[in-house]
Amino acid sequence: MPDGRVIFKPLPPSTLRSAGPGLQESLHHYALRIAAQCCMSIRKLEEFLLRDDPRAPKAGNAAFPSSWIGPRSNFRTLLDALQRDTGVSNLQNGTFHVIADVVGRGGTRRRQIRGEGRVWCPVCYLEWEDESSCEPLIWAFEMLSACAVHGVQLESRCHVCAASQAFSVGYRQRRFCEQCGSPLGHKNGAEESDRQALWVNSTLLQFTAWIEEVDEPISNARFLEFLRAMSDRRGEEEGLPQVVKTYVRWELDKAVQERSLPTLATLLNFAAYQGVAVQDILCEPTFAASGHLVPSAARFDGLLFRRRDLQLPHRRVVYVISKLTVGKGPVPPPSVVWAELGLWCNGVRGYCPHEHQAYREKFLAQRTFMGLDRFKRAATSCMRLLESSASDSKQKVSLREHLRTNYGLDDAGSSHCANACANLRKALVLSADEAELIRFEKHRIKKTERWAASADPS
Ligand SMILES: [Zn+2]
Ligand SMILES: [Zn+2]
Repeated sequence: MPDGRVIFKPLPPSTLRSAGPGLQESLHHYALRIAAQCCMSIRKLEEFLLRDDPRAPKAGNAAFPSSWIGPRSNFRTLLDALQRDTGVSNLQNGTFHVIADVVGRGGTRRRQIRGEGRVWCPVCYLEWEDESSCEPLIWAFEMLSACAVHGVQLESRCHVCAASQAFSVGYRQRRFCEQCGSPLGHKNGAEESDRQALWVNSTLLQFTAWIEEVDEPISNARFLEFLRAMSDRRGEEEGLPQVVKTYVRWELDKAVQERSLPTLATLLNFAAYQGVAVQDILCEPTFAASGHLVPSAARFDGLLFRRRDLQLPHRRVVYVISKLTVGKGPVPPPSVVWAELGLWCNGVRGYCPHEHQAYREKFLAQRTFMGLDRFKRAATSCMRLLESSASDSKQKVSLREHLRTNYGLDDAGSSHCANACANLRKALVLSADEAELIRFEKHRIKKTERWAASADPS
């Protein structure tokens, strides 16, 4: 300082850590670390950061990482406040600020869905050094399956008691199980060897390294440009196989109507098909959509994400919604259906807007026997009972009894709820059968193709 005065900063000027390219610390972990250094909870830190911002979101919202790292949330308010109060100017590198306007939240771990919380590398936790270790931003990607440093699969449950772990556990308690207290670090992790998973992991690592290097956020127009270039491809060399053509149309339709931003899975699908990096699609859309790219060794034919564990909830939700919407019987509240499949409403709406809308309409059109809240609670408990026992007629009687006693429903209400849940249960069981799903999808692709052909102006 020229006049010898030190400008006072209320928070310690801790630097954002990194274990190498693409392995920068996430701002969420940084915030947890700063909070621990100042002996406060992350909630208190959030309150402190937003202390004189009248436009600030209500404190206490930052329980999930997306509030700190994005994309598509209020992370910029917290990011700016942290930079101001620590005096550290490159904290945006620990966030998805570069792609915040381009990519939807789908594909990042952001909520505790059916008990699945955060993930960690057991070896990273085992070898933890307080002075230098960090949880990297890349762990926020739902599709990342292994640690880039140790090659072992990330874990989401305690290896002793199988409990899942909340996102915002404080820095000092983080490496111990919330349930049984055992250390979450160990050296018996399973090595990742699946070829496709390895490709996804290395693509995500390159992508995160790129995020760290870029300063200017990417505009949403780039993805639209990519889709347009893809859909304009014609002729023998440039043309696309039907399944990819349909996929491009589907995505273009969504993008043009600004219904939703692409998810990371969509970008990875295109990156794999074109043999380019995800960032190429966003930076060099016309090049990335070109039909003359040299096929790389990692290139896949057709669509990449057919792997069951990556896409199954989405495949199942389309199936289940369609079955219930077409069926004659009563249906349970939409939120109950999404919860059973481990999905959030926004996820369903973004993925299959038409089906989502049709289901809502069907639900709203049916006779009401009880308030929505009671219906939700009753149906949720019904689903647990149906899950725990094989269904038969005797059980339906006891289900109605259960609803009458515990939720105060009358005869008509209890039988409405029980039937709605039985219908959902049936669709869920059917959707677990891969052959049934494939049959359904083939039929659906044919329908979409017919639709695409009739909508084609050329
Ligand atoms: Zn590791
Ligand atoms: Zn445990």
